[in-house]
Amino acid sequence: MSCFILTSWGLRITIKLGTKGKICLTCIQRSTMKDFSQSRIAAYENCPQHYKLRYLDRIKPPGSKEGIEAFLGQRVHEALEKLYKELLLSKENSQDELLAYYRERWQANWYDNIAIRKKGHTRKYYFETGLRALKNYWKHYQPFDQARTLSTEFAMEFKVGDFKIKGYIDRLSRSAEGVYEIHDYRTSGFLPNQEKLDSDLQLALYQIGIKAMFPDVKDVLLVWHYLLHDKEMTSVRTEAQLKDMKKQVISLIRDIERDDQFKPRESNLCDWCEYPAYCPAKKLDIQITEKTEKVDVRLKK
Ligand code: SF4
Repeated sequence: MSCFILTSWGLRITIKLGTKGKICLTCIQRSTMKDFSQSRIAAYENCPQHYKLRYLDRIKPPGSKEGIEAFLGQRVHEALEKLYKELLLSKENSQDELLAYYRERWQANWYDNIAIRKKGHTRKYYFETGLRALKNYWKHYQPFDQARTLSTEFAMEFKVGDFKIKGYIDRLSRSAEGVYEIHDYRTSGFLPNQEKLDSDLQLALYQIGIKAMFPDVKDVLLVWHYLLHDKEMTSVRTEAQLKDMKKQVISLIRDIERDDQFKPRESNLCDWCEYPAYCPAKKLDIQITEKTEKVDVRLKK
């Protein structure tokens, strides 16, 4: 079987012709999906099969639970969004107000199905980790006049080559005339080294977007806040690096568009994957484990 791509007046129709003349759903979804985001591109780089299951087949993860790390990250982001949004209206939140808001959002959003996967860790531990991160942030940056906030949760849409890229910046600021800052909050326990940040795709991609959207941009500073470590890390990109990155992104998106196999790429990320039951590389392992468990149960009887 093979896929045919028909292009006419800018409309692309992809049909997979099989023995029964069936239309391939994956190909149709792919042909209508023209928007990309950094997270989609990163997902493909990590594992093409995972990308397909999630973004093309749109399979709802079976019995998946939200992890507490993501829950914590969301609540901390909300608190910092409130802090800077209200600063735009000239209201500075006291530390108590900020922490009270975090507490309120945590309680209002909590539900029993949230997964705590790390052994020995409790809900209280994660709650207090977020609380401590916010306390440290408040102390570190108060009175929050390092730069002028332009927007929080800034929605971006820009083109790289023929492709539309969408994304959100946690906070966009300006520290001097024409000097923009792209801030990203991280709540992971992992602290990367400078080399990793200097080659990070996400914020550099947003830099391309900011340059396209604001004609007065002279310089852009990329800023990561590793909140659990109370550590700020920065990076800058040259024009030549951005040019190279555009090429890299276009080539990656073309790879995604051309791919008709979406091979599984096994790695330690498989431990966190929501789709092992659908993954050709893992299905067999699951069946073997299930059979072995059944045999064990029978032997015990
Ligand atoms: S289990 Fe691993 S190889 Fe399979 S889809 Fe998930 S990440 Fe990819």
